[in-house]
Amino acid sequence: MQDNLRRKTRTVMVRDVAIGSDAPISVQSMTKTDTADVNATVRQIRQLERCGCDIIRVAVLNHNAALAIGKIKPRIHIPLVADIHFDHTLALRAMEQGADKIRLNPGNIRKPQHIEAILAAARHYRVPIRIGVNSGSVPRRRGHDLVRDITRAAQEYVAAFRKRGFDQIVLSLKTPDVRTTIESYRRMAELTDLPFHLGVTATGLAEQATVKSSIGIGALLLEGIGDTLRVSLSGEAREEVRIGLAILAAVGLRNPGIEIIACPTCGRCSLDLVPLVKQVERRLWPLRQHFTRRPLRVAIMGCVVNGPGEAQDADIGIAWGKGRGILFKQGKKMRTVNKDELLDVLYAEVRNEMDAVSSSHA
Ligand code: SF4
Repeated sequence: MQDNLRRKTRTVMVRDVAIGSDAPISVQSMTKTDTADVNATVRQIRQLERCGCDIIRVAVLNHNAALAIGKIKPRIHIPLVADIHFDHTLALRAMEQGADKIRLNPGNIRKPQHIEAILAAARHYRVPIRIGVNSGSVPRRRGHDLVRDITRAAQEYVAAFRKRGFDQIVLSLKTPDVRTTIESYRRMAELTDLPFHLGVTATGLAEQATVKSSIGIGALLLEGIGDTLRVSLSGEAREEVRIGLAILAAVGLRNPGIEIIACPTCGRCSLDLVPLVKQVERRLWPLRQHFTRRPLRVAIMGCVVNGPGEAQDADIGIAWGKGRGILFKQGKKMRTVNKDELLDVLYAEVRNEMDAVSSSHA
């Protein structure tokens, strides 16, 4: 964990998950089901729990959806956030039903008496609130400095909460533009000690979403800004979680358990490497939680040019060449491996490492 540069913030508890200060940066996602369809929503949340999702948000667009929260909650394990727009009574119902956090959009719940009712309930149920500013719904002011408009909208809403003695707040300032998003969070970081939920919004399909989120979220994390995150993409929620975790691992803020190093392949590669790497990843994925101190590095390299070097630097490595692979362990050449046995050999070696780690912890 290279988080010594982390911005100092308050800590906000979302049930048993801390956001801010020294707490691990949590990964969030949002269900893509109709929240009122309890079975479908629970199924999706459980799937996301298995992928490593720490906090889940559901859309609450009517009273049936708010009532469904009471039925969903006992069947899931991670904290649940109710996403509220326009109608403050939905926030009240969601909290009655056990929502662990509320997300409000300052652009569409503005009446002081509605804000007061929500804050009174949030205090009563000990529920924090994310003020989720979105560039699409901030009031545009003269001159159209979007960063200024976004940060001002956030400041005004925070001031309205604090005036009423409420400070269990997480802030987000999302836009579809990477630079504007980064600049908005940077500017806000100078103005408040509230924890931040990071995200670039409406990023599109997986490829573009991955690039935009990695740059936007990754740049802020490297500056020590950010306490929880969501990758938003037009696609499966599971992808959002996987990409979120990969971003954290890439900036050294989450131990991925097992790190697979694979060469990009080129004309020298005599092995169908990509499907093999996918198979290895799938097979090793369930073992990743056993490597808690540091990630186990597994290298799969396609030829003898760079292959042996990379394979030697990894904990376990295969360098392919002349129809066979050379197996390396902790830098030492062990033996040659045939294509047919490659997957099983790698799996067995990782299991051996796992046993060695477990006995050293015992
Ligand atoms: Fe090409 Fe070999 Fe490098 Fe893989 S390791 S990209 S096959 S040169």
